[in-house]
Amino acid sequence: MDSETLETFTNLSSSIVRENWKKSLDALFLLFRRKFVFDNLVIYLVEGSGSTPEVVYARAAGRGRSKEAESSWGNEIANQVISTGKATESIPADQTSSDRIAMPHFLGLPLIFPDRRGALVFVRFGGPEFSNEEMPLATLAAVETARALEQNILQESLTQLEHARHRAQLQDDFIATISHELHSPLGFIKGYTTSLLRSDTTWDTATQQEFLVIIDEESDHLLTLIDRMLDSARLQSGNMSMDFQPVRLDSLLRDVTLRVHGRHEGLEVILDLPTVPPIQADTVRLTQVFDNLFDNAIKYAPGTKITISLHGKESWQIVTFADPGPGIPPEHIPFLFERFYSVPGQFSKSGTGLGLFICKQIVQAHHGRISVKTSPGKGTAFRIELPVRPEKAVKEA
Ligand code: ATP
Ligand code: MG
Repeated sequence: MDSETLETFTNLSSSIVRENWKKSLDALFLLFRRKFVFDNLVIYLVEGSGSTPEVVYARAAGRGRSKEAESSWGNEIANQVISTGKATESIPADQTSSDRIAMPHFLGLPLIFPDRRGALVFVRFGGPEFSNEEMPLATLAAVETARALEQNILQESLTQLEHARHRAQLQDDFIATISHELHSPLGFIKGYTTSLLRSDTTWDTATQQEFLVIIDEESDHLLTLIDRMLDSARLQSGNMSMDFQPVRLDSLLRDVTLRVHGRHEGLEVILDLPTVPPIQADTVRLTQVFDNLFDNAIKYAPGTKITISLHGKESWQIVTFADPGPGIPPEHIPFLFERFYSVPGQFSKSGTGLGLFICKQIVQAHHGRISVKTSPGKGTAFRIELPVRPEKAVKEA
């Protein structure tokens, strides 16, 4: 064995690990090709008890056909390798054609996994034949391929487990939050009603009025909470229909701000709202989005100045909703728009974690996008991009 082949061997077997398995395989075969000529290669896998090999990776190394589009050429040999578990070679019956592509030489090698089967198939159009001397290197490539894929499979299982754990955690947190959220208004309602009904005490009219106002407010709170939960469930299952009408975002944002001002007199809001043409949108649902963003800014960035700006482009309009409040620590950003996610450690203020989830579902139902930019101590800015014509945005997507 020459020193270059030896080096290739050593490099191949020192597991080439890149950020993902496709990149690992790209690196592996780039190295491999220095000592082993092939035109195309395809990797097939048979999952579980299935019988049809699926192409999971294909590469064209140079001459001959393009990769994925033509990968069916390896099906037959892949089936043979997978059913026998042995390396298999095939040479073209007619080797006299002037068309190199019509004379494929195949080499198929089994990929060994604990719980699945696979094949690595090489092709050389028009030869040369795969020789015995080349077999150890090809076998090593198959071993390393299986190792890279196995790593990927393990990584995927780990990621799935992590997601399942995260979802279970969210459900647990939700049950704790929701019990608390439902419990406290109901506690007030029950307490004040029982007081009013006591036969051993009489309340003057002013006190009765005071109790009734509390009962009324707490019932509203409860109703809102239940509505949000139902909304989030409907939006999640895609069962909420949107009523698209022409809507001017500048007017809508002005109206929402005016209404919020009615409830929070001292609130400072800067509006940068140029007049824009109408977009197709559901007014009620979009109002809900901006209400939620106001609700959050008031709750989590109290006493700050909210800035709302609007930019109209030809086919998209962009709303930015920013506060210079405490911001959100970066580790929470990936989860903010998930159902039931509240940033931990803000228990005195946090809600059910439905607000941003509902915003995202509504924006997505408009075929738009919502994102957040935030840095601790500096503030939070939500960006909502809405297509002027949602149905057009779908076609373009
Ligand atoms: P709900 O809206 O259902 O009452 P919530 O406010 O906790 O509950 P979201 O509106 O989804 O849920 O917000 C998720 C989390 O994002 C909040 O718990 C809060 O920690 C954080 N957050 C949202 N907006 C801001 C903001 N403007 N500044 C700082 N933190 C924010
Ligand atoms: Mg909220």
